[in-house]
Amino acid sequence: LSTLQVVVLAGGVGAARFLEGLVQVVPPDQITAIVNTGDDADFYGLRVCPDLDTVIYTLAGLVNPTTGWGIAGDTFACLDQLGTLGADTWFRLGDRDLATHLRRTTLLQSGASLSEATQLLCATLGVPVRLLPMTNESVRTIVETPDGHLPFQDYFVRRGQQDDVRGISFAGILDARPAPGVVDAIQGADAIILAPSNPFVSIAPILAVDGIRDALRRRRAHVAAVTPIIGGTAVKGPADHMLRTLGHDVSAVGVARHYREDIATFVLDAVDSSLTASIEQLGLRVVVAPTLMTGPIEKRALAERALEAALSTPAVVT
Ligand code: GDP
Repeated sequence: LSTLQVVVLAGGVGAARFLEGLVQVVPPDQITAIVNTGDDADFYGLRVCPDLDTVIYTLAGLVNPTTGWGIAGDTFACLDQLGTLGADTWFRLGDRDLATHLRRTTLLQSGASLSEATQLLCATLGVPVRLLPMTNESVRTIVETPDGHLPFQDYFVRRGQQDDVRGISFAGILDARPAPGVVDAIQGADAIILAPSNPFVSIAPILAVDGIRDALRRRRAHVAAVTPIIGGTAVKGPADHMLRTLGHDVSAVGVARHYREDIATFVLDAVDSSLTASIEQLGLRVVVAPTLMTGPIEKRALAERALEAALSTPAVVT
């Protein structure tokens, strides 16, 4: 266990909670999280990276436990005043949260890469896990809806994830290269885990960066995915609605089918154990476990099961 290297592909809240469990099982300096940046957006001239920030705040012990994002006990004086001055304030940025975005933006403007800015934020806030943005180039997730193509945060926050999703694209993806360390981390990992994150808007953008999916497939026997869908519904957010409107099975089977070429093992929730055979028919090994991360004990137990699944090579990978 002392040299074990673990990689987690991560979105926001689901991934952050999973990582809270994993740091109880593996020394944090042996964990690398490769984090989605397709949700990033600029507000008031500041670069906001919601998934990176959620993971940072969670692992630094700062996160607002009610929302799963933002800083606990944050105030909104700056945002309120911006509203008074006529600015849009639908994206809720607290005062202390704004300090993160000010600091990041200043670092980027002075020539730091997003990787470097992230490393500095992690070091100063005491995040023990290595966090890598998927890329240092700008990638922006665009959601195709009956009302047109929406920038991700317009779909997700401003319009409250109500629109049917007809398609998803990643602007800038063709020019995006994996951030330094990303491919090496995947190549050198003993276990790679796709966190219980949104498959379409959290994990898919990471895999779409040139070279990341190929690197993952070369390690496929040691790749496990944790289901974000329990009993046909998402624990949080629009993953179930997206499965439906994108034409997939609205179940863990739909997610497993979507991941089938990239993973060897699927961690299925115990309430869905009747789906085991359907997922095995996709050529995947199935591990059945309780996956609802209600508290530290459940988070730790899930991390143990997912890690064990990714470490052990399944008998047959088709
Ligand atoms: P976001 O970027 O903040 O929306 O976060 P993620 O993409 O990381 O996570 C969203 C996904 O995580 C949703 O599809 C949820 O269903 C899933 N999720 C959240 N909490 C849990 C949990 O406790 N267990 C499981 N299995 N999935 C979860």
